[in-house]
Amino acid sequence: MNSNVIKKITVIGAGFVGSTTAYTLMISGLVSEIVLIDINQEKAEGEVMDMNHGMPFVRPVNLYKGDYKDCAASDIVIITAGANQKEGETRIDLVKKNTQVFKNIVSEVIKYNNDCILLVVTNPVDILTYVTYKLSGFPKNKVIGSGTVLDSARFRYLIGKHVGVDTRNVHAYIVGEHGDTEVAAWSLANIAGIPMDSFCIECHKCKNKISRQKIYESVKNSAYEIISKKGATYYAVALAVRRIVEAIVRDENSILTVSSLLEGDYGLSDVCLSIPTIVNRNGTDKILNIPLSEEETILLKKSGDTLKEIIDSLDF
Ligand code: NAD
Repeated sequence: MNSNVIKKITVIGAGFVGSTTAYTLMISGLVSEIVLIDINQEKAEGEVMDMNHGMPFVRPVNLYKGDYKDCAASDIVIITAGANQKEGETRIDLVKKNTQVFKNIVSEVIKYNNDCILLVVTNPVDILTYVTYKLSGFPKNKVIGSGTVLDSARFRYLIGKHVGVDTRNVHAYIVGEHGDTEVAAWSLANIAGIPMDSFCIECHKCKNKISRQKIYESVKNSAYEIISKKGATYYAVALAVRRIVEAIVRDENSILTVSSLLEGDYGLSDVCLSIPTIVNRNGTDKILNIPLSEEETILLKKSGDTLKEIIDSLDF
C-alpha cells in the first residue's frame, strides 16, 4: 500500500454492485480517487456522471470512468464484474462463466499493478478469490474475497432484531463458503460477552424461543429472496465492501470474515473461504483459530471440501 494519503481504488464492474460500491466509497470520505471500469463503457460513464453531480455534498474525490491503464498504482482493486446470479441460479452455477471473465480481468489488472490488494466480490466469491490468487501470482495476504462479511452482517442483524438489541452489540459470524454450505457459528455468538444460550434464558423480549435454524436459513437464503423480489442485491454488499476497504486503508487490524487462502487451517488447504481474520493495510494479516463446536467444525470442513471439488473441476 502506498504510504501517501492518496487512496486510489479501482472498481471493476459498473453494474448494481460495482456502482453502488463506488457510490458508497465516494460518500465514505475514506478515499481520494476512484476509477470505475466496465466493458460497457456507456454504463460506466453514466454512473460516473450521476455520482459526480453529487460531489458538492461530499469530501473531494476524483471519480472517473477508466480503462485498464487507469487502474495503475491502485491501493485496492475491487472486482465486481461478471454475470450475476439469476433467479433460481446458485452461485456455483455462475462459476464457469465468471472464471472466464476473470482470466481477462486479472491479466489486465496485473499489467498495471504489482503491489495492490485485490478484493473480489463477484460470485461465486470464494472460488473466484482462489482463481484470482492463482492467476495473479500475488501473495496470499493481498488477495481477499468479500466472503461472508455480508452474511455475518445479515446474521447479526437478524439476531439483534430478534432479541431487541443494537446489531452492533451482537457478535456473531458466518464462516465457510459465501453460499449454500455456509456455517453459522452459533457456539461463538454472544451479546456483550453473554453467550446466546445464556442470553436467551435471561431475555424477556421475545415470545418464542429463538429459532436458530430459521435465522440461519434466512441468512443463507437472503440473496435468493431479494433477487426474486428486486432482481439483485447491492446496498448491503456495498457497505460490507466499504467496511473491508476501511479496515485496509485505516490499517485497523479489524476482525472480518473475509475469504482468503487456507493453508492447513481447520484441516483445509488450497481453498479460499471465510474465517474471522485480522485485516489491515497488508490485506489479511492472520486467520484466527476460533473454537468452533465439533458440529460446526465438521460443517466447515464440508463447506471447504465442496469448494475444493469445484476448484478441481475448473480449467484455468
Ligand atoms: P450486473 O450485471 O449489474 O453488473 C456486472 C457488470 O460487469 C456489468 O456492468 C457488466 O457490463 C460488467 N462486466 C461483465 N464482464 C466484464 C468484463 N470482462 N470486464 C469488465 N466488466 C465486465 O451484476 P451485479 O448485480 O453488479 O453483480 C455483480 C457480481 O457481484 C455478481 O457476480 C453477483 O453475484 C456478485 N455479488 C456478490 C455479493 C457478495 O457478497 N460477494 C453480493 C451481491 C452480488
